Amino acid sequence: MISERVAEIAKQTYRSAGLPLLGMLGGFGLLRRIRRDSAPVLMYHGVIDTHGDRGLLTNVTQVDTESFAWQIRFLRDHYEVVELSKIVQRIRNRESVSGLAAITFDDGYLSVFENAAPILREYALPATVFLITGLVGKQEMAWYDKVEAHLRNTSLLDITIGDVDYHLDGERDTAIRAVMRRLKTVDLESRDRLVVELIGKAGEVEPAFTKPYRLMGWMEIERLRKHGFDFGVHSHSHPHLTKVPTQNLHLEIDAPAQVVSDRLGVAIKNLVFCYPDGDWDDRVRERVMATGMLGAMAVKNEITPPDGDPFALPRVSVSRDLTRAMFMEAIVGLTSWLKKRIPI
Ligand SMILES: [Zn+2]
Repeated sequence: MISERVAEIAKQTYRSAGLPLLGMLGGFGLLRRIRRDSAPVLMYHGVIDTHGDRGLLTNVTQVDTESFAWQIRFLRDHYEVVELSKIVQRIRNRESVSGLAAITFDDGYLSVFENAAPILREYALPATVFLITGLVGKQEMAWYDKVEAHLRNTSLLDITIGDVDYHLDGERDTAIRAVMRRLKTVDLESRDRLVVELIGKAGEVEPAFTKPYRLMGWMEIERLRKHGFDFGVHSHSHPHLTKVPTQNLHLEIDAPAQVVSDRLGVAIKNLVFCYPDGDWDDRVRERVMATGMLGAMAVKNEITPPDGDPFALPRVSVSRDLTRAMFMEAIVGLTSWLKKRIPI
């Protein structure tokens, strides 16, 4: 059992510098060999052109264009980057995924079209974008982005949402995280009610501040398809699926799969589903299987083993705060190994 003090030192060291040794003396190659049977499937969200101002990254899921470009080059140099469906199919067949990697983007942000696609095109690498079909082509943000955009930009210093006070004058990110945590635990009706209350109180967000949250329309999607992207299903409205009543699950699983299939002319059996927020249970998993889709992605922050569950495959989450060393640690599976032992 590791003592709390040792764990704290390990955590601080990891967070401040990653393990810089990894990048030296062939550490990456050495560590990679330990889990060579597994494939990293990377999970991105927005890719933001910050022009060096990292303050423009509004949340931890976003990465800046320069980091993204370095990560993609690194992947290309060390892996065979393939379509996600190839990895899922191989896992279904219990075939090797050694040496493979795949790139995925959740939610379908316009910034992926604007900033990530040109880089992937330059290296001729494929990627998969998971679409929230109810929001494609609408000038609307996803519910969690509405929450963030409004709380981040409101002039209020205090806000009461559903009888709970949140202070926005100090660490605004802390308040945003607290609201988000609460909204993820309540039932969907309460969540919608609280989001409406929050937006009403916080007031309008200037269009300029909604930029990082904008989503692609079908026109951008069609254009990306021509450049080697493919598209998966990320529900109709991005709810936590474990909170959706069984009789309504088809609205968030079957219906959006049909939309993607019809709009893009891809057979349902070739589509991959992606659980919003990695949230699933047996009911949800079985519903996805019943549609006949190829497989489904969870989050888990782990590299994908060849004997994984094709309907709950793990991915490595790439966040704003990853240093280069931390990125390397994540894609060889060291981060998840450490996380099981140390609270990093
Ligand atoms: Zn999502």
